[in-house]
Amino acid sequence: MADWPIGVFTSIDAGLGVHLEVAHELGIPTIQLHAPQRSTRTPEKADEFLARLDELGIELTAVFGGFEGESYADIPTVAKTVGLVPPETREERLQEMCQISDFARLLGCDVVALHLGFVPHDRTSGEYRHVIAVTQRLCDHASINDQAVHLETGQETADALLQFIQDVERGNLFINFDPANMILYGTGEPIEALKKVGAYVRSVHCKDAKWSDQPGVTWGQEVPLGEGDVDIEAYLSTLKEIGYRGPLTIEREIPQEPERQKVEIAHAVNLLTQLREKLLG
Ligand code: MG
Repeated sequence: MADWPIGVFTSIDAGLGVHLEVAHELGIPTIQLHAPQRSTRTPEKADEFLARLDELGIELTAVFGGFEGESYADIPTVAKTVGLVPPETREERLQEMCQISDFARLLGCDVVALHLGFVPHDRTSGEYRHVIAVTQRLCDHASINDQAVHLETGQETADALLQFIQDVERGNLFINFDPANMILYGTGEPIEALKKVGAYVRSVHCKDAKWSDQPGVTWGQEVPLGEGDVDIEAYLSTLKEIGYRGPLTIEREIPQEPERQKVEIAHAVNLLTQLREKLLG
């Protein structure tokens, strides 16, 4: 793979990504995939999907897990419903995430990723230890499938995320860095955060956002790439600085407006292509 291939977040029948055809029409060579619904996670469907990727000349770089009952309605709802943190659904979601890891293996993909949820802040609490334990079990399962686990950023500050990864003590746990999420959740200035966690960044989202007037309390606003507070050129310069050369995966979650979504992704492809030329030559 050439340095910094463009990518886009896609979905088949679950999740908010664009369809494979959109990636193809825009000439995008790599994708991340939101894991499809359980009924679609079969060997037959995996073969079909692989054949389609092959036909389109697109490479799959990560499979993202998501779970029924998750809601991103507002920040408190995320804390209650997202990822492996909520205790009531933790065990069943771990099982499902392991199945998603098995499905990703059928697709020949060596990265699974997810929003873990809001990790408890008190490192001495039982809840913190439970979240460490469930993450270890996920990493160990992924390891059997020769996969890394990438945690999506946003819900933690850079320092808390670093501490958490160190506490999990697994060699296949890394970060999918999303600069816009740092702004949306109000968890820190994204470029500074990227410098801190750089050693663990193995995949990234290219997404932009504006700060809320009450960061951490209410959502910031997701906006088209280049129109927000991330500073995309500084973002890419920093990725260069930390030695990241993997895919630049565009994420734009407005599936209710597919035409606008496609136009904005096309703009993002242009912006990233120009910046790549400027920064990597
Ligand atoms: Mg993201």
